[in-house]
Amino acid sequence: MNDCIFCKIVKGEIPALKIYEDSDFIGFLDVNPRFIGHALIIPKKHLETILDIDNNQIGHMFEIVQKVAKTITEALDAKGFNIGNNNGQIAGQAVPHAHVHIMPRYETDEHHAGFEAAFKPSEDAKKELENTLKKIGTIDPVETKTPTPDPPKPETKKDENLDFAFDDNIVMSKFDG
Ligand SMILES: [Zn+2]
Repeated sequence: MNDCIFCKIVKGEIPALKIYEDSDFIGFLDVNPRFIGHALIIPKKHLETILDIDNNQIGHMFEIVQKVAKTITEALDAKGFNIGNNNGQIAGQAVPHAHVHIMPRYETDEHHAGFEAAFKPSEDAKKELENTLKKIGTIDPVETKTPTPDPPKPETKKDENLDFAFDDNIVMSKFDG
């Protein structure tokens, strides 16, 4: 996708007001900010929607969103923030490269509306609630990724395992460094 504006930002072909970068994601200020501090988080890879982001990356992406949102709101003394994400042209996605908006909100905002202001409740959708639930069903729980537990420490009995315990400490101190 050579004509993708976000890919060009990733490659440095278009300048961006970058506020975050790691090996897989970058964050920068939106050039058409809705609010002061309006930022975007995008994967470096050209992936069209969040459904295309790798399963083991999506959690990381939202950890970044959380960290950036916290930093921005504190730095700019915002009183809250919205997180926005459009997927697909029909949903208003303007750039076909997955991105999450972080929009800090202030007491001085003209109105304190959330996205509900853009989408009015639909009577038709309300009538369909039962049927909608039937169509979706219940979704299997997402497995929580538990961190790999530390390898069990060998029980160090005095005297007989002294050499082994000593080696183990060396290994541990290397990890600490
Ligand atoms: Zn792209």
